[in-house]
Amino acid sequence: MSLIRVENYINGRLQPPTREEWLDVAEPATGEVIAHCPNSGSDDVDQAVNAASQAVAQWSRLPTAERSAWLLRLADLVERDLQQMALLESQDTGKPLSLARDSDLPRAIANLRFFAGAIQGFSSQSHAMPEALNYTLRRPLGVVAIISPWNFPIHLLTWKVAPGLAAGNAIVAKPSELTPLTAYRLAQLCHEAGLPAGVLNIVNGQGATTGDALVRHPRVRAVSFTGGTRTGRQIAMAIAPEFKRISLEMGGKNPNVIFADCDYQQMIDTTLRSSFANQGQICLCGSRILVEESIYEKVRRDLTERASALCVGDPLQPDTQLGAVISAAHQEKVLGHIERARRDGGVVHCGGRKANVPGRCAGGWFVEPTIIDGLGPGCSANQEEIFGPVVTLQPFADESEAVRLANDVPYGLSATIWTSNVGRAHRLAEKLEAGVIWINCWLVRDLRTPFGGMKQSGLGREGGEDALRFFTEPKNVCVGLN
Ligand code: NAD
Repeated sequence: MSLIRVENYINGRLQPPTREEWLDVAEPATGEVIAHCPNSGSDDVDQAVNAASQAVAQWSRLPTAERSAWLLRLADLVERDLQQMALLESQDTGKPLSLARDSDLPRAIANLRFFAGAIQGFSSQSHAMPEALNYTLRRPLGVVAIISPWNFPIHLLTWKVAPGLAAGNAIVAKPSELTPLTAYRLAQLCHEAGLPAGVLNIVNGQGATTGDALVRHPRVRAVSFTGGTRTGRQIAMAIAPEFKRISLEMGGKNPNVIFADCDYQQMIDTTLRSSFANQGQICLCGSRILVEESIYEKVRRDLTERASALCVGDPLQPDTQLGAVISAAHQEKVLGHIERARRDGGVVHCGGRKANVPGRCAGGWFVEPTIIDGLGPGCSANQEEIFGPVVTLQPFADESEAVRLANDVPYGLSATIWTSNVGRAHRLAEKLEAGVIWINCWLVRDLRTPFGGMKQSGLGREGGEDALRFFTEPKNVCVGLN
């Protein structure tokens, strides 16, 4: 693969950063540099925000059906290039090609198509009084900044770009500097489609510089962010004095609560996925597995056996189940968490080390699927987001202890409950502190439903009407009837 030179997409043009500063982009599976990505400065950000400011007047006045048609055109182009984009996503992130091809890219296409439809059904409210009639207009915000992470680059970018554009805003997006390739390909597709200049701009660079300049820009009216909790806090603090609207989708430490009366086989199969899919680098992974005492030993034994048999390997090979983690630094961080868990008295039942993948991937950043138990609920491995292929097991005696353990973290993104007792399932769903609850399933997503976390996992909700509400400003008009 020849070295890719990523460009910014500003005012309908693909262009290098003004100061010609570049960042290396490495392929996690090999450790080799595969691309150079702009390290944009505030001048590039300024150009992009100016372009968006100019474009928004016309874009916001287009009939909804025309904005929808643009999203559908983009979706068709992504679908046309699905295989190529899946390969880019796999090489950029280290995730198995099969996952990128069967999940990330189809989901990106679904995001574009879903919001093309959703905006058509997005109606304004009306409230009648005897003496007056109220109706509530929903107008676009103007220029919106989108900041997205590396774990699902094109999926999460389109998850925000689609409702933002559908609602009539102009966007300046900054993808993760670790994974800019599919966003660059999307920019090329926008260029090919002839999307009106300035409606979508993509500026690449580091978070602390490019990202910071973008969110602070005075003409940016709102920020939609997905990433780590610490970054979310920094952004919230940076823009609070300007009262910009903000949506934060952040980290998780999600409980997977397993009762003895569950459908055992379905639970084990799904728990394996919810622990290790995308190398555990999914904000929704169930990284704390809480198991009813009576089946604790069996779950630990079966899960350990299944995890040990997972194929960690070259992401491009069809039988690979776990690819590489995102970077050398992240690999060190994940291994550091495991070491700390050992020091805290944890027992590592499988994994716990770098995984060596010979041949093309000898220099890649792989971690074995790891299961740890024997730790108290307050230990860092049970409290902090590790964001790698590492899960902990903890036993519980009864429902109330399960709820107490599940809620005993600063995060509140998602939770999974495994039981065949209908009453208990609903009782727990009500009590668990999480924005997304799955009962006897995991990662089943309907794009119409509100998505997001509570506590330190998030602020606001995305998806369906919630996303369209975030990207619009309500204005109530009261008409006197007398
Ligand atoms: P990160 O917070 O390091 O980076 C996310 C994005 O923010 C990147 O584009 C980065 O360049 C940018 N950024 C960093 N500092 C910034 C600053 N000061 N100002 C503006 N932008 C800045 O997160 P990451 O490591 O890319 O992603 C992993 C994290 O994302 C995990 O914590 C995971 O749980 C979370 N995540 C959450 C969800 C969700 O929906 N809740 C989904 C996916 C990932």
